[in-house]
Amino acid sequence: MFDDLLAGNARYAESFDLADMPGQAAQRVGIVCCMDARLDPLAIFDLKVGDAKILRTPGGRLTPDTRIGLIIGSHVLGIDRIVMLAHTKCAMASGDDASVVEKIRRADGTDLAGMRIGSTPDQIAGLRYDVNSLRSDPLVAADVCGMVYDVTTGRVELDD
Ligand SMILES: [Zn+2]
Repeated sequence: MFDDLLAGNARYAESFDLADMPGQAAQRVGIVCCMDARLDPLAIFDLKVGDAKILRTPGGRLTPDTRIGLIIGSHVLGIDRIVMLAHTKCAMASGDDASVVEKIRRADGTDLAGMRIGSTPDQIAGLRYDVNSLRSDPLVAADVCGMVYDVTTGRVELDD
């Protein structure tokens, strides 16, 4: 089931030349974005491996673990700016938690009733909430902005 991935890694390792790359973010940026397969956060900003800390969540929402990563990143891993990156056509913005739970129940019968998913039909409100939450967190030592990536054009718009 995973043979293709191991074969892919074997090819990757053949020309691997990043052994001396530091673990810090060379461009001093942390990017929080959705797990959507259409998003290549480094490419979106014309960055390369080693330039940024990438944290991915469903919907690109701020979660407790993401916050911890950004706090640590802003103090010791070279992050002094953070992009909260939402995107158009995001499944997590297609409805509220109840509608996502219902979609999953209908898909294969799995019952996630009561689970906090973090989806919201008002994606921009969610983005701004997360941006403001980070800005008001005294433990986050970085500038924070919100952006929206358009999956149909490749362009990013600064929201706030
Ligand atoms: Zn998404």
